[in-house]
Amino acid sequence: MEGSQPLTILFAEDDSVSAKILGRTLQNLGYTAHGFVNGQQALDWFIEKQPPIIISDWMMPLMDGLEFCSKVRALQLPHYTYFILLTANAGQANYRKAMDSGVDDFLSKPFRRDDLYIRLRVAERIVRQRWETDAKIRSLAHFPSDNPNPVLQADREGRITYANQATLGLLKLWGCDVGGNLPGSLLPLLSQSPESGLVRECELCCDHRTFSFAVTSVSQEGLIYLYGHDITARKHAETQLIDMRNRAVTQSLQDALTGIGNRVLLDQRLPELIEKMKVSQRKLGLVLIDIDNFKDINDSYGHKVGDQVIIHVAHALRDHLKSRDSVCRWGGDELVLLISDLPNRSVMRQICDRLIQFVKEGVAQSDLPKITLSMGFSVYPDDAECPETLMQKADQALYQAKADGRDAWREYSGDSVLFTSTQNVYQRLNAAIEEQRITAFFQPVWDVVGNRPAGVEALARWPDPALGFVSPDEFIPLAESKGLIIALSRLVMKKSFETMQLWRNQGLDLTLSLNLSKRQLVDKHFLTELYTLVDDHQLPHSNIIFEVTERQSILGHAIGRQRLEEMVAAGFRLSLDDFGSGYSSFDLVGELPFHEMKIYGGLIRKMDTPQGKRIVQAIIEMGLTLGLTLVAEGVESEEQVEILRSMGTQKIQGYHYSKPLPQDKLMDYLKGMAQRGHFSRPDNVTEASQKISF
Ligand code: C2E
Ligand code: CA
Repeated sequence: MEGSQPLTILFAEDDSVSAKILGRTLQNLGYTAHGFVNGQQALDWFIEKQPPIIISDWMMPLMDGLEFCSKVRALQLPHYTYFILLTANAGQANYRKAMDSGVDDFLSKPFRRDDLYIRLRVAERIVRQRWETDAKIRSLAHFPSDNPNPVLQADREGRITYANQATLGLLKLWGCDVGGNLPGSLLPLLSQSPESGLVRECELCCDHRTFSFAVTSVSQEGLIYLYGHDITARKHAETQLIDMRNRAVTQSLQDALTGIGNRVLLDQRLPELIEKMKVSQRKLGLVLIDIDNFKDINDSYGHKVGDQVIIHVAHALRDHLKSRDSVCRWGGDELVLLISDLPNRSVMRQICDRLIQFVKEGVAQSDLPKITLSMGFSVYPDDAECPETLMQKADQALYQAKADGRDAWREYSGDSVLFTSTQNVYQRLNAAIEEQRITAFFQPVWDVVGNRPAGVEALARWPDPALGFVSPDEFIPLAESKGLIIALSRLVMKKSFETMQLWRNQGLDLTLSLNLSKRQLVDKHFLTELYTLVDDHQLPHSNIIFEVTERQSILGHAIGRQRLEEMVAAGFRLSLDDFGSGYSSFDLVGELPFHEMKIYGGLIRKMDTPQGKRIVQAIIEMGLTLGLTLVAEGVESEEQVEILRSMGTQKIQGYHYSKPLPQDKLMDYLKGMAQRGHFSRPDNVTEASQKISF
């Protein structure tokens, strides 16, 4: 046993990196640490050395942390060993089961050094107090009358035959006396033999103090000595520890940003509520909520404002619902509501109506950007009886709400309706990318000065056998959020370059505009791949235009800026896309060497009002002053073309000229234009090499 020297700690952790860090941290905290890679090795060493503190990972090969702890406890050693269990995540932990196995405390990985330090200090305090008490008992055992702790002698029947001075007062409080019976709670000790090595303790409370009694010896005549010690301080420390642990458990059920429940709480509460509803024969509504266009809010205003929006929505929902209902954050901007005790399904519709309205109004009164919510709900037991299916069905309903234009709620209404869950769409998109089924359509960009096609914009297209053509507004954000955008963009870029090479071989000199996503740009392989692809297809850099939107907030990203500058230096062109769609500012234009600016189609559509026209006019004038080429997109009528041309726009794109076309249709279109006298020819392609004559 160790006095005031550093305590020895046994730690068991199968992950070598974590083990190294833990060992070093323990040493830095002043402990002597011995590490093992599985429970079996750790147990062997424990039996030999009996260290006072064990820290063990839960998941380990051969013997996991729980089995290790159970085996340590089964040894029933005289000196107490404090057992701390490491959990990889709160969801993994079945705390009750672990407590029953004899675990004293939990620590979630990764943990902060301070957290570990605090827990070890508490452990140390408890262990040392136990040792002191044991030592005192042993030294005073020979002089019971002087012992300040209670010492009792009883016969096998439990009659008190002797009580020292310290016990007499207590016996009165317990309603006992010498000659009478032991308090009932000490009776289990009578069947105990100290030689067995098993030390059993019984607790007795009295006058705000707690005593722990144990049998220390049995005389030849069968008289039993019971020694008690005051464990009030230890109990206090343990209560503190339990509080601390309860707080940690509560915190692990709480979302750190919003303070509402997290996914772990949801996973716990949903089955519990289903069980309750089974008994009460009432219904449970499960609502999945998405903040519409949340990514745009983050991109335009920054993550801090994004966080504020989530907090605001979470609190508004919580405040509006009854306290028995749960509001949990599933992750990102996804929230889940559990609304219990519904008398019927239609109540859910009213609740959703109210919530959508309430949140919208609340946000309108705040300084936060305007937002709307999409919601989908399913109902237990109408739609499903198990948590997973209930979630899936609510997800299908949410998908429908988004597909129907967002700012709406939808309820699950049976499998007959073609509902497609986000998960399903994700899997289909992933497969489409892997099988290279994502393709590019090309929309002509018209040079209104030279009156000819100047180039094309490549737009990703995803024809799905079951879903048809899924809109890029749907799958591009999904690809962005699920990490598929890099692979998707690579595919679009490759296919576009192949097509561009074909045009060039056929004598066409067109620029190619590609939409650039931030993730793609900052991907470390992007530039190398770009240069390789461009070289492979022998394309002039100056004919390739990369479009970036301000929403992508590339400019706030050091690597992104650096890459764009490098690309411009290598001769590629840069276009500021969707200018006027949100928070576009001209300051930005000076930040990077943009060549052109694309006026947002939404502004073009508003040109039928005098104010709308003035805004477009102002943008064009300022763009021209800055020396940029002005491109208008979303132009649908001759009238719009005329106005834009008169204002100084050099390039126009929109349905007025053509919708985005597959490669072969684009060829037909361009041929048709050539026949009418509008054509473009690359400088380096001779007349003789041309396969198409325009
Ligand atoms: P965008 O870059 O602003 O592309 C222009 C969008 O306007 C295209 O929608 C196009 O079909 C549509 N459009 C063109 N002319 C007209 C018109 O006269 N009237 C109307 N109402 N619409 C017109 P699309 O193809 O659905 O693409 C939507 C967005 O998806 C694009 O907006 C772009 O932000 C993104 N996107 C498309 N392809 C890619 C891609 O390969 N990579 C990345 N990162 N984003 C892409
Ligand atoms: Ca674009």
